Amino acid sequence: MNLDSPISNLPKVGPIFEKKFERLGINTIEDLFYHVPSRYLDYSLITTINKLRADETVTIHAKIASIANIFSKRGVRMQIGSVEDETGKLMVVWFNQPFLLKMLYPGRLVSLSGKVGFFNRKLCLSSPDYEILDEEGDQTFHTGRFVPVYPETSGLSSKWLRTKIRDAFATTEIEEYLPKDVLTGGALVSLKDAIQKVHFPKNLEEAEEGRKRLAFNEVLNLQLKSLIRKSNWKENRVINRLEINSSVVQQFISSLPFKLTESQSKAMDEILKDLGGEIPMNRLLEGDVGSGKTVVAAVGAFVAFLNGYQTLIMAPTQILASQHYETLNRLFSKFKLRLSLLTSAVKLHDLGRTDVFVGTHSLIHSKVDFSKVAFVVIDEQHRFGVEQRRHLVKKTGTPHVLTMTATPIPRTVALTTYGDLDLSVLTEMPEGRQKVTTWVVPEIKRDGAYEWMKKQIINNKSQIFIVCPLIEDSDTETLADVKSVTSEFLNLKSVFINQKLGLLHGRLKSKEKDEILDKFRSGTIDILVATPVVEVGIDIPNATIMVIEAAERFGLAGLHQLRGRVGRGSKRSYCLIFSNYHSGAAYTRLRAMEKSYSGFELAELDLKLRGPGEIFGTAQSGFPELKIASWNNFELIKATKEVAEDIIKNPKKYTLVKTKFEYTKKYGWRLSYLNDVTHV
Ligand code: ADP
Ligand code: MG
Repeated sequence: MNLDSPISNLPKVGPIFEKKFERLGINTIEDLFYHVPSRYLDYSLITTINKLRADETVTIHAKIASIANIFSKRGVRMQIGSVEDETGKLMVVWFNQPFLLKMLYPGRLVSLSGKVGFFNRKLCLSSPDYEILDEEGDQTFHTGRFVPVYPETSGLSSKWLRTKIRDAFATTEIEEYLPKDVLTGGALVSLKDAIQKVHFPKNLEEAEEGRKRLAFNEVLNLQLKSLIRKSNWKENRVINRLEINSSVVQQFISSLPFKLTESQSKAMDEILKDLGGEIPMNRLLEGDVGSGKTVVAAVGAFVAFLNGYQTLIMAPTQILASQHYETLNRLFSKFKLRLSLLTSAVKLHDLGRTDVFVGTHSLIHSKVDFSKVAFVVIDEQHRFGVEQRRHLVKKTGTPHVLTMTATPIPRTVALTTYGDLDLSVLTEMPEGRQKVTTWVVPEIKRDGAYEWMKKQIINNKSQIFIVCPLIEDSDTETLADVKSVTSEFLNLKSVFINQKLGLLHGRLKSKEKDEILDKFRSGTIDILVATPVVEVGIDIPNATIMVIEAAERFGLAGLHQLRGRVGRGSKRSYCLIFSNYHSGAAYTRLRAMEKSYSGFELAELDLKLRGPGEIFGTAQSGFPELKIASWNNFELIKATKEVAEDIIKNPKKYTLVKTKFEYTKKYGWRLSYLNDVTHV
């Protein structure tokens, strides 16, 4: 067998176990080796019964003297017995494992590992791990050494996985594919050693050595993928070439009702430089909520327009598409540029001449002819699948692509997963923005907070968002979410008797959503109760208070985005955070919101505390969770990047990498097993 062999090549792994493996993301022998232990049990201290001390974790070799199934006083089924070696006798108990008696009958020689405790005031081993010894007392595997414990799924116990990994290791040919100097340079053990050390270590240091090498492979893979994507992208040539007319672009910038921030100007320069080139732009524009990304994208649309070409802007929701449409109409009001909002209601033949199409992912399936598109803008791309993005880009030939996100992407992640994109970052806010005073409000102050909110509405004409989280951990609302926000809405109605409340959730028709948002915008509604559909992009300058319920369900970056919905006008603004937790780690995490006002800082913090899933939302984000390496390991990210770059530059030196990545004259390095190596 080799690393690519399917898992079903292992003895006794049929369709049923294959499915179970699949659930752990394991399809090949290699996947199995990369399923690293979550921890190890130190069963390496082998001793005799007379030397046992309470609380020690030990292994003994002994003979079963007696064993029986009994019921405890509370009715729990127990397996209680005694074992003996040449130094003495010891009590052993298990719970709810009646089948044990079939294997562990009197006279059998066993190796038992576990923690020494008391039972009926006598020393005993409670629920020890066990394995049968031959008369010769052969080598133990599940006891008597460092024993790995694996992340489990129902039906695949650690004990079973251990045996399968042992079988696989004994029969698989494991070839090293990195050259010696890379291994020496990174102080890495060979691949075969690494797998052995991770799964069958003599001690923790060995396990760590093995892990380090596997982590290196894991991140190197990501690096190569994005570098290969990058070099493949560079094979593209722009069909609809753009000329940059600087003086007219300058006219547009001067026509804006505000002065650009320094980083907006810098980002625009970077974009304009790309747009003038032959190789299509592939750039990520990253900036905190409210940092002014739209106008930066608008410059690109303007350039395309000046050249007689079209722009396509894709937003994650209908609300945001409408908002982009309105904002851009305002920005371009002095120019003869025409926008079309592509909704499902629009009839193709009603579309007049269009310079900028704005829409949601439905753009992907639109029948409109996009052959004149020279510039594509994708807003909040993590909300779309990679697949959707690729479809859109394909459909429009080889346009320049600008992806925008308010999701603060930690440095290490930007260097790997997004390594194929050039990066522009908006580091500062437009002038005159103010900090949103933030409080984590204890439950006992809830009534007081409601009274305060009423006063703010009456005295200061404040408008308020109240956001209820989704119940399930998903990116899409379920009916249960709608029910829960609706019941909270009714509840709030009975609190805010003299105020006008509106309800907004994703299951409303887009016309209903627009109506409610319009009412909120015009001040007809005082309090908007909503699900996190308000999270991205909604711009209502008069709203000054953001209330977030069950905030522990959000990542800090998500909370920060919600908070960014207020504090957009000149009025003092507030964010009130409610949580079901009033102490402990979850609570401490939320308190960070009171002190930090930087999305990047909060994202880095969450990365440390909870991992990347929290920053990027769930499944749809397309964001890879690392199985072995840590996103906080900056050294590793740097080292793998260097090696990956060297592989691309000096393919001859890395011929053995071929087992994973194949080199072709036409495309350069490409992943032999990935299909995302096409020219997009
Ligand atoms: P985001 O980066 O969150 O998409 P927007 O592009 O929606 O931010 O901009 C937020 C608001 O800030 C908009 O009303 C926009 O007109 C305004 N804005 C953008 N740039 C500036 C600037 N340099 N000075 C003042 N206001 C600006
Ligand atoms: Mg935006």
